Amino acid sequence: KSKETTGNSYHFYSDGMNIRTFENIKLENALYKALEQDELILFYQPQINYKTKQFEGVEALVRWNHPEQGMISPDKFIPIAEETGLIVSIGEWVLTEACKQLKSWHNQGYPLKSMSVNLSVRQFEQNNLFSIVKNVLEKANLSPEYLHLELTENLIVKNTELTLKTMKQLNGLGINLAIDDFGTGYSSLGYLKNLPISTLKIDKSFVQEMTKDEAAITNTIITLAQNLNLEVIAEGVETREQAEFLSAQDCYLMQGYFFSKPMAADDIVKKYFSYNSIL
Ligand code: C2E
Ligand code: MG
Ligand code: MG
Ligand code: MG
Repeated sequence: KSKETTGNSYHFYSDGMNIRTFENIKLENALYKALEQDELILFYQPQINYKTKQFEGVEALVRWNHPEQGMISPDKFIPIAEETGLIVSIGEWVLTEACKQLKSWHNQGYPLKSMSVNLSVRQFEQNNLFSIVKNVLEKANLSPEYLHLELTENLIVKNTELTLKTMKQLNGLGINLAIDDFGTGYSSLGYLKNLPISTLKIDKSFVQEMTKDEAAITNTIITLAQNLNLEVIAEGVETREQAEFLSAQDCYLMQGYFFSKPMAADDIVKKYFSYNSIL
């Protein structure tokens, strides 16, 4: 069944591949321990309303604080976690941690309106995702309206009955569902009408390609969102020029290095007070 026994196996044994595979196995084993040994940590990136200059909420982004290798980016280990299924446990940890954090900020008097959490397709393949999320919210004593879940278009492409059912349950509870990296996937637009989605998140590649003369894609996504009565948020905003272009097209919710990189929870609190001076 494995690649080694299906012929053409010499491709598999090319030097580069061998090394990568070995490293992946090492990473995979280390990742199991990372969860237990509290090596995962959440960073938070502010989401800003550029019009009102309000700090609206944050997106939780996981990092792996590896004892020898330092901070490892999710692009390196989320794909492995997805392959092995470990993403299910990691995802539940992220959700729990993020909800507790928002509750704690609320208790300290910071009225952030939302906590966005990324969900992987694999998490939707469990038939108890809804009850897990509901439980996490109850334990954190956080009202569902504060939770935003970011899904990708792969999930929509698969479009299983279970996915749709879970999405409806989550939405029914009052959770906001967003499509992340919108425009980069292979899904058709028809689904947008039929799914309980509230927000489109414009992928950073479109934001960064956008210029004064060429804003067709962001423009199209923003108009689409308006016509379907969806919220729209732009990710990857790095310059004031980009922020100005977006707001000229009536897209005011933004996230990106122009405002802030993702950062540790303590730094978010410090930043909270200084936002008006940044904008
Ligand atoms: P994403 O959800 O689309 O998150 C946005 C990514 O863009 C983040 O990378 C963020 O740090 C980065 N970013 C933010 N502003 C800018 C900017 O102005 N310019 C540029 N060039 N990049 C910007 P990060 O934190 O490395 O996360 C990468 C991806 O890993 C995320 O993409 C998401 O798909 C995945 N991920 C992160 N945390 C989780 C998690 O808890 N669960 C799951 N399933 N996936 C996660
Ligand atoms: Mg995201
Ligand atoms: Mg994204
Ligand atoms: Mg992305």
